Amino acid sequence: MINNYIRKDLKDFTPYHAQIKDYDIKIDANENPYEHNKEIIIKVNRWLEDCNNIRRYPDTDCTDLRNAIAKYWNVERDNVVCGVGSDQLIDSILKVFLEPGDKVLMPTPSFSMYKLSTKLNRGIPIEFSLEDDFSYNVEKIISLYRKEKPKCLFICTPNNPTGNTISIENMEKLLEEIECPVVIDEAYSEFIDESMIDKTYKYNNIIVLKTFSKAYGLAGLRVGYGIASKDMIDAINIVIPPYHLNSLSQFIAKTVIENTNEYNNKIEEINSNREWLFNNLKSINYVEKVYPSQANFLLIKVSSYTIAKKLENEKILVRGYGDAGELANCIRITIGTKEENEKLIDVMKGLI
Ligand code: PMP
Repeated sequence: MINNYIRKDLKDFTPYHAQIKDYDIKIDANENPYEHNKEIIIKVNRWLEDCNNIRRYPDTDCTDLRNAIAKYWNVERDNVVCGVGSDQLIDSILKVFLEPGDKVLMPTPSFSMYKLSTKLNRGIPIEFSLEDDFSYNVEKIISLYRKEKPKCLFICTPNNPTGNTISIENMEKLLEEIECPVVIDEAYSEFIDESMIDKTYKYNNIIVLKTFSKAYGLAGLRVGYGIASKDMIDAINIVIPPYHLNSLSQFIAKTVIENTNEYNNKIEEINSNREWLFNNLKSINYVEKVYPSQANFLLIKVSSYTIAKKLENEKILVRGYGDAGELANCIRITIGTKEENEKLIDVMKGLI
């Protein structure tokens, strides 16, 4: 009965659920494997002791957090918007710019939320394939842009799940030809230490999305942010709900961005662990390809998609992509600690 009342275009949708699985090693969601520094935990405990901090509604404008982000990136507070994860910002951007039936250009394979959020906001996803090595073909995107006249374009760099980037030079070539809002998703850019944020002064139609979920290990707190021209930020704020980001998340994210030095060593360690894993995965006989990555994960192609399930049976959770589509027989592995990576290689060598 209630089904008769669901929006027609959502009738075939199923709710998003993530199964809770038992594990020893969790390398399926690109999270940070390291613990937070003690000083940060002490600050959080102190913050929790003041009851007012949780009795009161949060600061709806996330003023302190936005100030800290603005200071870190050398922009103004008005150039920053915070979200409940960058997921919320992806949704908000589409919510404010799309009329029903508008097209949105996005790469494939890439982060699945662009497509889902577009549909939930009554838009039409138009996917452009990446090249065989997963690189972005700028000319191809420009000609598709001219043909389809989309309301919004998504670029993910480094791209999830392929790990490759688009260079700043190519990004600018693209931007010179694009008028519509362009979302540059830099969820993993801390691992390359390269960003388009300083170009937000030059192109007022771009928004750079960042997250505390990956390099900064706060996935459980759901904090993302966007940096853009003031006009772009003002537009997005129209659809951000009041009190969206809870006080604890605001406080911890602020503390973390004020102490990024504490995280830089870990980021370097993850990068060197990735190189170790890259070389060792290549030596496993059923691993057909390891794609070069500049993020905290590696995409590999194996002889059978069942490897993901076999690893799960060994209590190692990875992200498998099944046996069909452009990522058939591919597995995405988050870079873990040295011990986790060594265990993974050991277990993988014993499988077939
Ligand atoms: N963008 C990309 C490319 C991602 O991989 C993810 C998380 N998997 C997100 C955005 C969303 O991150 P958040 O936790 O900030 O919502």
